[in-house]
Amino acid sequence: MSPSIADNIARVRVQIQTACQASGRALDSVLLLAVSKTWGPEAVRQAHAAGQTAFGENYIQEAVDKITALRDLPLVWHCIGPIQSNKTRLVAEHFDWVHSVDRLKIAQRLSEQRPEHLPPLQVCIQVNVDGGDTKSGVSPQELPALAQAVAALPRLQLRGLMTIPEPAETDVQMRAVHAQAKALFESLRQQGLPLDTLSMGMSADMASAIAEGSTMVRVGTAIFGQR
Ligand SMILES: *Cc1c(COP(=O)(O)O)cnc(C)c1O
Repeated sequence: MSPSIADNIARVRVQIQTACQASGRALDSVLLLAVSKTWGPEAVRQAHAAGQTAFGENYIQEAVDKITALRDLPLVWHCIGPIQSNKTRLVAEHFDWVHSVDRLKIAQRLSEQRPEHLPPLQVCIQVNVDGGDTKSGVSPQELPALAQAVAALPRLQLRGLMTIPEPAETDVQMRAVHAQAKALFESLRQQGLPLDTLSMGMSADMASAIAEGSTMVRVGTAIFGQR
């Protein structure tokens, strides 16, 4: 029999705790975001029954259907995928968090469209640390101005940064990219932004991301299986 979603979550939690211990961090200092894209509401229910409350989604319409079907559960939904202008209203109305803000225009629309009866939308700016031209994410050079502008929007609360680095050839190289993201995060904090979230690390680079200060890791396949 293949391992259950509950078994998988337990195993990933141990991996997170091991990485925390190895780097001298508190065992509860890293949040596990279960990436449930392409999986149906039943898989999310199983994960919730195993104690998981934070879920990440990439595809907006798919996510909205799932969020609606799971209204009876106290879940926290994170948008981690690219956002087109014509999808900002759905995101503002249905999600708790967005990790993938990389343009001021998108942030402004999210703020304008966030319903008054909901708390501010919790936001991370996606930063392209390792500099691939084709990748989404703001460049490190443009980050400080974007962060200040997003922080000033009334219906958003800027919480931190998100990165999706390319897989590196060696652990040392991977760690250097994670360290760069951490340095950008700390420099924004030094500029007075009260940031507490560094969304960094997936299955393959989790240990290195945690060693360099990640506060949230995003794991899909290792929990739900191959998509
Ligand atoms: C899909 C996705 C993940 C999870 O990837 P897995 O390989 O399934 O663990 C994490 N972060 C982002 C931004 C993703 O799109």
